Amino acid sequence: MPADNLINEDFLILVVDDDDAIRFVASDTLADAGFNIIEAKNGKQALDVFKTHKPDLVLLDLVMPEIDGFQVCEALRAQPQNETLPIMIMTGLDDEESIARAFEAGATDFIIKPLNHFILEQRTRYILRTSRVLKTLEQREARLNNAERIAKLGSWDWNGQKKALRVSKEFNRILGFAEDHPTAVTEMVGLFRDEEKDRVKALYQQVLKDNETSFVLEHTMYPSEEHPIRVRQEAEITYLENGHVRVSGTLHDITEETSSKDQILQLAYYDTLTSLPNRTFFKTHLEYSVKQARKNGACCAVILLDLDLFTRINNSLGHDAGDKLLAVISQRFLEAMNNPACIKLNQAAIDPYTVNEKSDDVLARLEGDQFVVVLNNFSRLDDVIAVIQRLLKRLSTPMQYNTQSVVLTASVGVALYPVNGQDSETLVRNADAAMRFAKSQGRNNFRFYSSEIDAKSKERLSIENDLRHAIHNGDLELHYQPKINLATAEVTSAEALVRWTHPKRGMISPGQFIPMAEEIGLINELGDWLIEEACQKTKHWNDMGIGPIRTAINLSAIQLKTPGLVEKVRSALDNTGLIASQLEVEITEGVLLEDSHRTLRTLEGLRSLGVKVALDDFGTGYSSLSYLTRFPFTTLKIDRCFITDSVKNAQSGAIVHTIIDLCRHLNLEVVAEGVELEEELRFLMKHHCDLIQGFYFSPALDPDSFANYLRKKPWLDQLSDLD
Ligand code: C2E
Ligand code: MG
Ligand code: MG
Repeated sequence: MPADNLINEDFLILVVDDDDAIRFVASDTLADAGFNIIEAKNGKQALDVFKTHKPDLVLLDLVMPEIDGFQVCEALRAQPQNETLPIMIMTGLDDEESIARAFEAGATDFIIKPLNHFILEQRTRYILRTSRVLKTLEQREARLNNAERIAKLGSWDWNGQKKALRVSKEFNRILGFAEDHPTAVTEMVGLFRDEEKDRVKALYQQVLKDNETSFVLEHTMYPSEEHPIRVRQEAEITYLENGHVRVSGTLHDITEETSSKDQILQLAYYDTLTSLPNRTFFKTHLEYSVKQARKNGACCAVILLDLDLFTRINNSLGHDAGDKLLAVISQRFLEAMNNPACIKLNQAAIDPYTVNEKSDDVLARLEGDQFVVVLNNFSRLDDVIAVIQRLLKRLSTPMQYNTQSVVLTASVGVALYPVNGQDSETLVRNADAAMRFAKSQGRNNFRFYSSEIDAKSKERLSIENDLRHAIHNGDLELHYQPKINLATAEVTSAEALVRWTHPKRGMISPGQFIPMAEEIGLINELGDWLIEEACQKTKHWNDMGIGPIRTAINLSAIQLKTPGLVEKVRSALDNTGLIASQLEVEITEGVLLEDSHRTLRTLEGLRSLGVKVALDDFGTGYSSLSYLTRFPFTTLKIDRCFITDSVKNAQSGAIVHTIIDLCRHLNLEVVAEGVELEEELRFLMKHHCDLIQGFYFSPALDPDSFANYLRKKPWLDQLSDLD
C-alpha cells in the first residue's frame, strides 16, 4: 500500500520499558493516536514479543536490567529482515555518548524522557512513514533485481561528468563480479579481447561524434577464459548542456540465445558437406564488401573457381568419393587463403544493427564443384594473382582416394570492383564469364574479366537467344550422312546430324550449339522435334522406293535422363508408321557414366521396341569394354581419331583391327567414323569393317541431296575404282 494512504490503525508498535509508568504513558499516548500497541517489560520479553508479533516500530528504553536497550537494539538489527525496522530510543540520559552508542547499535531515532505527547505521536508517525517508503523502495528494487536476474538483463548508468559508473546486481552477476561490487569502467574493459575492445571503443566514439542518441551493440566478453559470454548492450545517451554525456543502458546476456542462433546461422550460412560458407553467406558478404569498398574508395575482387572435369570423378569413382574429395579440396583452399577469418560470419554483413565491422576476405563453396573467393584487402593486382596461384598450387597436389591418386585442376575467373562491375550481381556474372573463358582456353588457368570476354559472353548470350528462336520457329534442319555397307556396297544406314544456319553468322556447328541447347534447357524440345523429323523422312524415303535405310539420331545425356523418352520414340514411330528397326540411337560413353541404372533401363526400353543402339565415338572416352556387354548395344562406332591414326601408326592400326575383331565376336555391327582417305578405306576393307562413314564418300546432306545421293549411288564408282 502506498505510504501516503496509510492510517495509524495500520501500524503495530512495541513499547519496551521496565518502568511501568513511562511504558503506560507511551502506550496510552500512541493508543489514543490510533496505533495498535503491545508492550514488554524487559529486554528478553521485548525480543520474544517481537518474534511473535512483528511490530512495525519499536519504542525502546535503554536502561533496563539484564538485557538492556542497546543489546535489544543490536539483536533486532542483526536479523536480516529487520534492516529497515524503525527503532526509536527513549532515553532520560540526554548525554551524547549514550545517543551515539544507541545509533551505533542500530537505532533509527531517539526521544527524550519525560515524553512529550505531541512530539511522541508526530515523531512516530514520521518515522513510520519514512520506513514504509523505504520498504516499498526496497521491495521494488528486489522485484527489479529479480526481473533482471530472470531476464539475464543487467543495467548500468554512466555519469560522464562525475566519471562514475553505477551498475545493477545482475550486471555484476553477468560479468562475474560480486553482486554489490562497485564495478569500475576499467574492470569492465578488462573483460574484452583487444580487437573487440578497439572495435567497441571506435563504435562508441563514432556514436558520440554523430550525435546519436542510442546504440545497440553485440560483443563477447571474457569473465573467464573458458566461459566467454556474448552480450547485447542497448543504451541511450543524454547530451548535457555542459558538454558532458550521461549514458544509461542494459546489458543482456545472450550467450544461450546466441548458441541456438549460432546453430541456425550454421545451417543458413554454411555448407554441410565442406563446412565452408555457402552461397547465401557469399552473397551477403560480397554485398557488404562492395558497400564498404564503395564507402572507402577501395577495391575488391571476386575469384570464381570451377574444378575441371569434376563430373568425371563423380562418375568414375562414385559420388561418395566426389564428396570426400570436395571436403579435402575445401580444406586445402582454406589453408591456401592464409586467413582463418575468411570463413567467419561477419555480423555486420547479415545484421543491420551491428555497425561497421571491417569486411574480411571470404572463401565459400557455391555449389557442386564451384568455389568462390572475395578479396578485400589488397593493394595491387599481383596480390590477387598470388592468392589464385596459391589456391591452384594447393589444389594440384595429388590427392589419394583409396588406392587411386587423383589430380585436379580448376579454371578461374576474376572480376574486380569497381572496374568490372558496380554491384555484386554484375561482379559474379563477369567472374563467371571470365571463368568460362579460362575453361575454353584449355582449363587449369585463370583469366581476369576483360572487354574481350565481355564481347564473347555477350555474343554467347545473343547466340543463345537466337538459338531459342530458331528452335521455336523450326529453323533447324537435319542433314544425313550416308554409311556405306562394304559387304553389300549399299547405303544401308545414315546418321542424322542437326544443322543451324544462323541468319548473320552462317553455319554454326552442332558441337557448339548442342551444349548450349542443353544449358538453356531446350535440348528436349529440340530432341523431340528431331526424333519425329528423322522418322518421318526415313519413312518418306521408304515410300519413294529409295532405301529402306536405317537412320541414326544422336541422343544427349539430358535427353536420356529425361523420363518418357521411350514413350516419345514409340509415339514417333506410331505417328510416322516407321518400323522400329529402321531407327537407331547413338550415345557416347560419357552418358553411360551418369546414372547408369536409369540409362540401362531406357536403352533396354528402346531395344524392346526394336530400335537399334549404337555406342558413338568409341575410343575417345573410357573405352571400357565392360560397357559393351553391360548395355544392349547393337552397333559400335570407332572414333575418327583412331581411323585417322590407323594408317599413320601401327599401334592405332592394331587397335582398330582389334576392335573390329572384338565386335565380330560380340556380334556387334562396327562403323568407322570420319573416313577421309583412300588408304584409310583400304585398311578398313582389309579388316572387314562393316560400315564406312566419312567425307571420303559424303558429308551430311540436306534431305533432297541425300535422296539424290541414294538414287545416283556415286559410291559404287568410288568402290570399283579401288579394285
Ligand atoms: P558425332 O555424332 O560423332 O557425329 C559425327 C561428326 O563427325 C559430325 O560432325 C560429322 O559431320 C563429322 N564427320 C563425319 N565424317 C567426317 C569426316 O570424314 N571428317 C571429319 N573431319 N568429320 C566428319 P557434326 O555434324 O559437326 O556433329 C558433331 C557432333 O555434334 C556429333 O558428333 C554429335 O555428337 C553432335 N550432334 C550432331 N547432331 C546432333 C543431334 O542431332 N543431336 C545431338 N544430341 N547431338 C548432335
Ligand atoms: Mg553420332
Ligand atoms: Mg561420332
